[in-house]
Amino acid sequence: MVSCDCLDCTETCFCTMVGGAPYPTEGFDVNLTAIDDGYVVEVATDRGQQWLGEERLGRLPEASAGQLARRDELRQAMVRRLEEQNAAFGLKLSDQQPPKLPNDADGSWGKFSADCVECGACTNICPTCHCFYLYDQALGPEEFERVRTWDSCLFSTYHRMAGGPGMKLTPRPKLSSRLANRVLHKFAYSPQQYGVLGCVGCGRCVEACIGAIDIRQVVKELSE
Ligand code: SF4
Ligand code: SF4
Repeated sequence: MVSCDCLDCTETCFCTMVGGAPYPTEGFDVNLTAIDDGYVVEVATDRGQQWLGEERLGRLPEASAGQLARRDELRQAMVRRLEEQNAAFGLKLSDQQPPKLPNDADGSWGKFSADCVECGACTNICPTCHCFYLYDQALGPEEFERVRTWDSCLFSTYHRMAGGPGMKLTPRPKLSSRLANRVLHKFAYSPQQYGVLGCVGCGRCVEACIGAIDIRQVVKELSE
């Protein structure tokens, strides 16, 4: 796993608001930080060391104190920038401190779902959304293939169940409860089930949303 520091961000980025940072602190084998005259290479694991190889590693000079200081300076500058651009939201969340949000039946979600057109862009672009859909597609009279594709919990069909007339075919007929489900999955269910927030603050869903729904604003307003 080769990672690198973020040295720039968009105005929708908010990793520091959810307990993250614009550089990795764990989970990588080799990390690269671009500095003025090259890269600081940090090898964190034996796997990273093997991948780079002794010979190549031997050719790399030891990072100087000045180069390490420059890396720290660049990191701190990015953290400051992220904190400043998200200051208005006033949220400081972490895996141990998820926000307290209303349940999916609460009417307050409706303010945000009113702008949702159910396009599914937010779920398709999210690095932590993983729901998929399976269906069988006919290729010929006696041939078919099973297809796996992305699904989205914002779609009304996502929750649809089999059943006869008079049966309740979906537990989430309202779009507001489907939008709530997505946000609660990130900020309530994931911390409950796995002990980690399900949102890394990448801001991609904010950028992609045609309805201009900003998950930072949703969490801010509804946790208040
Ligand atoms: S900001 Fe959070 S919810 Fe939105 S795409 Fe990134 S990880 Fe997913
Ligand atoms: S991207 Fe926005 S409009 Fe599209 S499904 Fe997600 S919340 Fe709704």
